[in-house]
Formats: sequence, C-alpha cells, structure tokens
Amino acid sequence: MKYDVVIIGGGPGGYVAAIKAAQLGGKVAVVEKERLGGVCLNWGCIPTKTLLRTAKLYKDMLRAKEFGIVGIDDSKVKIDWSLLLKRKDRVVNRLVTGIHGLFNKNNIDLYQGMGRLIDKNRVQVNGEIITGKNLIIATGAKENFPEIEGLKEALESGKVINSKGALQLEEIPKELIIIGGGVIAVEFATLFNALGSHVTLIQRSRRILSSMEEEMALTLQQQLIRDGVNIVTHTRLKSINQEGVLIEHEGEERLFTGDKYLISLGLKPRLNGIENLDLELDSKGFIKTNEKMETSIKGVYAIGDINGKFPLAHVASAEGIVAAENIMGIDSTINYNIVPQCVYTFPELASVGLTEEEARNKSYDVAVSKFPLAANGKALAEGEGVGFVKIISDKRYGEILGVHIMASHATDMISEGVAAMQLESTVYDIAKAIHPHPTLSEIVMEAALGAIDRPIHI
Ligand SMILES: Cc1cc2nc3c(=O)[nH]c(=O)nc-3n(C[C@H](O)[C@H](O)[C@H](O)COP(=O)(O)OP(=O)(O)OC[C@H]3O[C@@H](n4cnc5c(N)ncnc54)[C@H](O)[C@@H]3O)c2cc1C
Repeated sequence: MKYDVVIIGGGPGGYVAAIKAAQLGGKVAVVEKERLGGVCLNWGCIPTKTLLRTAKLYKDMLRAKEFGIVGIDDSKVKIDWSLLLKRKDRVVNRLVTGIHGLFNKNNIDLYQGMGRLIDKNRVQVNGEIITGKNLIIATGAKENFPEIEGLKEALESGKVINSKGALQLEEIPKELIIIGGGVIAVEFATLFNALGSHVTLIQRSRRILSSMEEEMALTLQQQLIRDGVNIVTHTRLKSINQEGVLIEHEGEERLFTGDKYLISLGLKPRLNGIENLDLELDSKGFIKTNEKMETSIKGVYAIGDINGKFPLAHVASAEGIVAAENIMGIDSTINYNIVPQCVYTFPELASVGLTEEEARNKSYDVAVSKFPLAANGKALAEGEGVGFVKIISDKRYGEILGVHIMASHATDMISEGVAAMQLESTVYDIAKAIHPHPTLSEIVMEAALGAIDRPIHI
C-alpha cells in the first residue's frame, strides 16, 4: 500500500485529519475536486464572517454621532459590494494558500480532481489509482432543496439562490426573501439587512433558530424585527418560482416577491464518488459512525458534514483529529456533549452544553443563573448592551451543564464555557476565577456568582 491513509475531501474535516495523520508519522494523500478548505473556507464560515465584518462596521458608522464622531454624511456612506467581495476573496485566498503551505510542510500529497472509490483501499482520480491502508471520507454535504414545481428552473435562472449564490451576487438585492430560519438563513438576514436590503425571512416553525436556546433565539428574533427584518413564522411553503414565494400562513395564502429568493433548508450528504462502498447510512442518508469515527466497514472512517452529526467546521476538524489518531494507533474518541454552537448575528449567540429544558429532562436538579449585558461596564462602553448570559448548573455540586451567551463577541467568549465543561468545572470554579475588568467576559463570572448566591452588579 502506498499510503497509510487516503482522504477524500479537503475541507476542515479532511485537511485537518491529513495534517494530524502526517504529524503522527503517516504517509497521507488527500483527494480534492475543488479548492482546499472546502465549504467552510471558500463558501461558508470565512466568506460570511468577512462580509459580516463590513456589515457591522457600516452599521456602526451610521451610529457614529452616538459615539461622538461627527462629519459623516449618512447619505454618502455606501457599500461597494464588488470591493467587499474582493476583500472576501483576498481573505479566503490567503487562508487556502496557507493550507497548501501546511500540506507541503507535512509532506501530504494532494490529488486535485474528483475521487471515485473502486473499493475501500483504492481511489481513482484523473485516471490514476491511489491505494491506502485506511480511508477517511470527508466529502461534506450539499444544500437541500424541496421538491417543488418550478424551483429547478428558478434556480437555473438565478432568481432563486442558495448560500453560494448569495456570495456571488452582482449587487446587493433591494428586496430579499429568505426561506429558512436556521443559522445560515439568520446570518444572511443579518448581513443583507445591515447592508441595506429589505429582508423578509420565512420560517416554518414558531421561531427562528429552533435548535438554539429558546430565550436567546426569541430575543434575537425581536432584535432582528427591531432592526427592520420582516419575520414570518408558522408557515407552510407551497411554491417558489420566478413569480415569487407562495406560503400558507394563518390559514391564508400569501405571495412574497423580491429581487432574489435565498433558500436555506438544511443539508443532504455528498456521496458522489463513494457509491461503491456498501456503507451503513442513517435514515437521512448520512454515513453512520461511532465515537471513533469508524464506519460499518473496517478501516473506513467518515468525518464532518457527511456523517450528519453536527454540520460545523470545528466538529469536522475535531472528528478529523480523532480519525487520524485512531488510524495512527492512538485510542481516541469524540465527546459530542461539549460542542459549541455559534450564530454570527448582531449581537452574536453562542451555546455549549444543555439548555434548561434539556437539563430538566435529564433529571438534573437544575439551577439557572442569568446576568444581563446591560449591567456590564464594557458592554455599555461599547454601546452593545443587548444580551445576557445564562449558566445552567446542577444544584448538587454546582457542575456546569450548559452556558448560553447572547452578546457581541459571544462566539469568542463561549470558549470559557467549553473549557469549563471539558474540565468538569463547577460554578464555584468560574466564580473564583478572577476575570479582567472591564471585559464582556465578566458576565460569565457574574452569572456563576449568581448560581451560588447572587451576582455583585445587580
Ligand atoms: C454559508 C455557510 C456558513 C457557514 N458558517 C459556518 C460557521 O460560521 N461555523 C461553522 O462551524 N460552520 C459553518 N458552516 C458549515 C461548515 O462550512 C461545514 O460544517 C464544514 O465546511 C464541513 O466540513 P467538511 O470537511 O465536512 O466538508 P466540506 O467543507 O463540505 O468539504 C468537503 C470537500 O470535499 C470535496 N469533495 C466532495 N466529494 C469529493 C470527491 N468525490 N472527490 C474529491 N473531492 C470531493 C468537496 O469539493 C469539498 O471541498 C457554514 C456553512 C455555510 C454553507
């Protein structure tokens, strides 16, 4: 066998697995049909956050007077969409180039092309057959489109777009209809609303972000409405085509029309090229894996979006490291109980661990401690007083079961909750840890104090 491991897919799952396996002494090949970095770097995490940075800057510039800056003429401050996309491309290209550099440094062979499995040890790419002792499938997922008449044609015409299409628009749409209320839909609603589009978000369930902590999601929903996003919940989608989006809402049919219709309705596994393996799949068609990332076939691992667990880049990478370690002889498992989930809105949301409801369902003696951002000095200094932190703990020993943060920079701050849970810490540990002042992170300490007795600043 030429390689210790062959990896199909060079996204955040595949490329991280490759580096880890190489660091552990393995001879590694990666097969990638597009660009290294996968969806995350090229069409997902990084492009959207680059655009959101501009959106936030623009929003803040329009508030300049509140911060004592005068002389900015709001009517002259404009977004140059093509310049913004160029900046996005520069950021993305720099990161993709960085992965190529890491591959060279770690002697990883990259095969650029569509990989097709002949069997679990042989992959065909560009007419060449490469062989490996172990195989990691990291082919990711693709967007799910409902089976609706007219949709295919509307997608082809560019009237209906997916998230990738939204990053290739020629101009900022004046009227944007977003179908879906998950993380990607809500981030795009935040982005285009801040950039000046009139955004309507159409959502099937009662609220946006149905997988996130309820109070946070509802508070964000209110904030988006205050910011001008039209949110229509409790709907049933009837059709999407060139003419518009037809829904059923409170017993009536309603037609929404706009310049563009952005669909974000979940994911489907990307199985092209790996059809030859008789792998066990779950009910939605994703590859079944255990906590070592092993599939039903020995020596074949599946990581990232393709296994349908958490469609998140950091989970893909963590799974990649677990798979690489097991292949290279280190016993390794993943813990899905401590996965941070982030939403990059204004303000941001970030969660780790259990919600109050989940903790009660698991029969914990639950303590919930909440601290508002409005009582935090740094938040007020920055003009970012909307939000709160909620710590869910077990009354018996104060063990931290979950941390939920709604705040600007929540996505950075959640790592304190992740580390605390990884170390099986208690609210006593967090309360005792001296937090720097003035910082937003003091809200976490205050909530921990609240779980024991009372916070200081309310
Ligand atoms: C708009 C958007 C925003 C997002 N934002 C975030 C975020 O902020 N944070 C976050 O954690 N996640 C985010 N995600 C999700 C994140 O992008 C994915 O979870 C992550 O990319 C999954 O990584 P992966 O390695 O499993 O698959 P992918 O990134 O999809 O990579 C798979 C790679 O495999 C290649 N491939 C597939 N089949 C073959 C084949 N047969 N031969 C050769 N190559 C093949 C593909 O070309 C692709 O490059 C976002 C996604 C989108 C769409």
